[in-house]
Amino acid sequence: MYRRRLVGSKRITRRAVQAGILAGAWLFAGCSPEGDGDVGGAADGGAESGAATTEAVHFAFTEVVPGVYHARGASDLVVGSNAGVVVNEADVLLVDSHISPAAASALIEDLRSITDNPVRYAANTHWHFDHAHGNQVYPPEVEIISHEATRAAIAAGRSNSGRSYELFVGSIPGRIEQMEATLDTMTDAAARAELETTLERQRTYYAQLQEVVPTPPNTTLSERLTLHKGGREIQFHFFGRAHTEGDVIVYLPDDRVIITGDMLTAGLPYMGDGYVNEWVETLDRLKALDFDWIIPGHGEPYRERERIDHLQAYMQDLWNQSVALHGQGVSAEDAAARIDLTAHADNFGGIASPGANPVAVLRIFELLDGNAN
Ligand SMILES: [Zn+2]
Repeated sequence: MYRRRLVGSKRITRRAVQAGILAGAWLFAGCSPEGDGDVGGAADGGAESGAATTEAVHFAFTEVVPGVYHARGASDLVVGSNAGVVVNEADVLLVDSHISPAAASALIEDLRSITDNPVRYAANTHWHFDHAHGNQVYPPEVEIISHEATRAAIAAGRSNSGRSYELFVGSIPGRIEQMEATLDTMTDAAARAELETTLERQRTYYAQLQEVVPTPPNTTLSERLTLHKGGREIQFHFFGRAHTEGDVIVYLPDDRVIITGDMLTAGLPYMGDGYVNEWVETLDRLKALDFDWIIPGHGEPYRERERIDHLQAYMQDLWNQSVALHGQGVSAEDAAARIDLTAHADNFGGIASPGANPVAVLRIFELLDGNAN
């Protein structure tokens, strides 16, 4: 049925999880608290599809439906987010440009394993560095599409500064120093070799980050934009604030696929720049679309719409408990320790005991205090 080799997505996922455990999730850190989205133990929807996966040099491409691919990093190259790849009759749309020019260039090279069509369109689902810091490699004729707020944020330098960037990227030099110090104390040859590999990967990643020149998208929308490409309709929607102030989702109505950026991830998304209460409502509008497949910003594609309900329930609970504790004058830090989300443990990995992500709670408190930026 497929000319390409069939590769079980399970294998890729398992390898990524093992690598994540070895290296520490921070190595992969994109704007997901679970690193590349695998560590949370979420269901592996890709394996269920029976879809063909093509392994290129740095990326594995899973054909979710004909001509629509989920691209994920499958080598030592740190790429950050997933990309959605839409192969049209005469061109290609890439949804999200990864974490560095090196990663974005590698994707364009690897694309040749699935199509000869040129990349004519790209999109940034939001302004986070791991989805937009490959923009500079696209030639000027490529239309890079985003919400107008995303363009404004990147133009203002917010994709390479601020709390989230410092959290995920600013900490890297210190981590490298820690690893170097640890290496000096290690005597076991196998353990040393393992750490040296991790360290080298991290040094390479950090060097690649120095090449980033944040490049704003050149085509913006405020609510909706539609492309008609060789019989395929491609809709870009802004349904309201969610993971950031300018989240755009890509909807392919004939293919019945949505590509969501970090509004949805395989596990719990990062909420440090989010609008948690509005996010729940934005997802209600998303759910009104008719689709079978979700390609999330991190992690494997999936079909189970109830996973959106689970995320909404989690966020509503987190919001309500935060509001109550904020009203009692509790600090964000103490609130994060006291909030109990164990009722959601069946739906999300890693909720073994009370406590919430401190950055998410701090963000909610900033929203409640009216000083979120
Ligand atoms: Zn993000």
